[in-house]
Amino acid sequence: MDDCIFCNIVKKEADCDIVYEDPDSMAFTDINKQAPVHILVIPKKHMRSLAEIKDADLPIIGHLFDVVNKVAQQQGISKKGYRLVINCGIESGQSVWHLHIHMLGGRRMTWPPG
Ligand code: AMP
Repeated sequence: MDDCIFCNIVKKEADCDIVYEDPDSMAFTDINKQAPVHILVIPKKHMRSLAEIKDADLPIIGHLFDVVNKVAQQQGISKKGYRLVINCGIESGQSVWHLHIHMLGGRRMTWPPG
């Protein structure tokens, strides 16, 4: 998708701070950090949102959570804990239409989210 910023990041056509990469996924620092650690984990394949994944995408969805675990250990937040957020659709506030998991850590989280 030419007009997708995360696809451009995957293609290395847009700058970002990559913290993890493998053939199917990538993790990079959010440009507008909401916590000391704020990383986005994405599939390299373009998927608009969680609501639009296909059965064939399920293995990569599982893989993304393995990546989350690896990145949490790498970032030193695995033991203390962290929050995952997947915004899905307009009312969630999703603003980038390429599936991503927010990893937020390094501070105490509050509930409920806004
Ligand atoms: P969401 O609102 O859940 O769709 O989250 C999109 C996230 O992508 C926001 O937290 C943005 O700050 C982040 N973002 C947008 N563009 C970039 C970029 N070029 N590099 C890193 N993060 C980005």
